[in-house]
Amino acid sequence: MQEFDIIIIGAGPAGLRAAKVLAEGKANVLCIDKKQEIGVPKRCGEGLGLSWMNRLGLKPDPKWCLQEINGAALYAPSMKSVKLNFKKVSGYIIERRVFEKELAKEAASKGAMIRTKCHASNFERKNGKVIVSCVERGEDVQYAAPLIIAADGTESLTARKLGFDTKIGLNDIESGYQYEMANISFENPHLINLFFGKEIAPRGYCWIFPKSDTCANVGIGIAGSEPKTAKEYLDKFIKAHLGLRNGSIIEVNAGTIPVGGFLEELAADNLIVVGDAAHQVNPIHGGGIGIAMEAATIASKVALKALGKKDFGSKFLNQYTAEWYKTRGNKLKRILKQRHMLEELNDDNFETLANAIDGDDVMLIAEGDLKSSAKMVLKKLVRHPKLAKVMLKYLK
Ligand SMILES: Cc1cc2nc3c(=O)[nH]c(=O)nc-3n(C[C@H](O)[C@H](O)[C@H](O)COP(=O)(O)OP(=O)(O)OC[C@H]3O[C@@H](n4cnc5c(N)ncnc54)[C@H](O)[C@@H]3O)c2cc1C
Repeated sequence: MQEFDIIIIGAGPAGLRAAKVLAEGKANVLCIDKKQEIGVPKRCGEGLGLSWMNRLGLKPDPKWCLQEINGAALYAPSMKSVKLNFKKVSGYIIERRVFEKELAKEAASKGAMIRTKCHASNFERKNGKVIVSCVERGEDVQYAAPLIIAADGTESLTARKLGFDTKIGLNDIESGYQYEMANISFENPHLINLFFGKEIAPRGYCWIFPKSDTCANVGIGIAGSEPKTAKEYLDKFIKAHLGLRNGSIIEVNAGTIPVGGFLEELAADNLIVVGDAAHQVNPIHGGGIGIAMEAATIASKVALKALGKKDFGSKFLNQYTAEWYKTRGNKLKRILKQRHMLEELNDDNFETLANAIDGDDVMLIAEGDLKSSAKMVLKKLVRHPKLAKVMLKYLK
C-alpha cells in the first residue's frame, strides 16, 4: 500500500489548490478524483471575480479567461434593471475545464501526485493513519496517510465516512441547472445578467454569463425544497426571451450548491474539510471557486504545520476553523442574513427596489455590509416603510 503525508479527495479548485500549496511546502501529497478528466463536466457558471484572482495570485490567462466582465445587470420581473458597470474589468467568465487543468499541471509541477478516474469508496482509521480504499481505473487499490483533506464537493462522502457530520438542510441547498448556449443575443456581452422573481426563480435567480458576444452559460439556481425542478423554470425562462429561444444548447450542466449551513468545525482527527464539502460558498450568489481556493490555502498551511509537529488531532487541525472564520466565514455568515432577507421579498418588492436603489446599493447588500445596508434602506425606502421594515429586520 502506497503511503503519503496527505491525501486529498477531489481535484476541483479546492483540492488542486491544496495540492499545490502542500507540494510547495514539500509534503508528499496525493490528490485523487473520480472523474476521468479534470474539470469535466463543469457544473459552474464560470464567473470569477478579479478581486478573487488577485487575492489568490492568479494572473488572468487568455487560455482560460474567455470573456472580460465589467459588472452586472440585475433584472426585476418587469425587466426593469439595476446596473453595476465598473467600466473596467471586474472579473471573467472562464473556461473551467482549462482553468482546472492548469491548476492541476501547476500542482503536479510542484511535486503533487494527481490521479484521475480514482474513486475513493471507503476510509478506515488504523494506527494513526487513514486507509483509503479506491477503485482506480477498474482496479481496487489502497492508499494511506495520517491526514485526509476532503475536497470532494457537495456530494462529499469522505467526511461522513470518517464520522464527521456535514449534513445540510434542504433550505440551505440550491438546485442548479444550466445550458451553455450558442447563437444567442443579450444586451451587453460584458455584463453578467441576473434575473429575479418568484415566478422566474423562487429563492434564486436565472443568469446569463456571456462567454463571447453570442455564446453564454444560461442557468438557474433555485431552492432545493422547491417542488418544480430547476430545469422546468430554466426552460420557461429561455422560451420567454427572444434572444435565447432559438439558440443552440451545446452543453448541459446540473449540480447542487450549498448556500448556508456553515460548519462549526472544519476539522476532526486526521481530517480537514474544504470547499463545497464544507459549504464554503457565497450564500447570495452561490459563487464558490474563489472561496474554496482561499479555504484550501488556509487549510493547507495548517496541514503543513501539523505535519511538522506530527499532530493530526482535531484540536490542532481546528486552527484552520478559527483562521477561516476570521478571514472569510464570519463575513459569509453576514451575507447569509442578507440572503434570508431577500427570501422574504415578493415580486412587487423587487420592482420597488429596482426603482429605488442603484448598483452601489446592491454592492452593499452583496458584500454583507449590514450597517451600511441598513442606512441605505432607511434613506432609499422612506416611501416604502413596510418593505423597509422587512429588510431592516435582517440588517442587525
Ligand atoms: C450550476 C452551478 C453554477 C455555479 N456557478 C459558479 C460560478 O459562476 N462561479 C463560482 O465561483 N462558483 C460557481 N458555482 C460553485 C462552484 O462550482 C463550486 O463552489 C466549486 O466548484 C467548489 O469547488 P470544490 O473544489 O470545493 O468542489 P468541486 O469543484 O465540486 O470538486 C469536487 C471534486 O471531488 C470529486 N469527488 C467527489 N467524490 C469523490 C470521491 N469519492 N473520490 C474521488 N473524487 C471525488 C468530484 O469529481 C469533483 O471533481 C456553481 C455551482 C453550480 C452547481
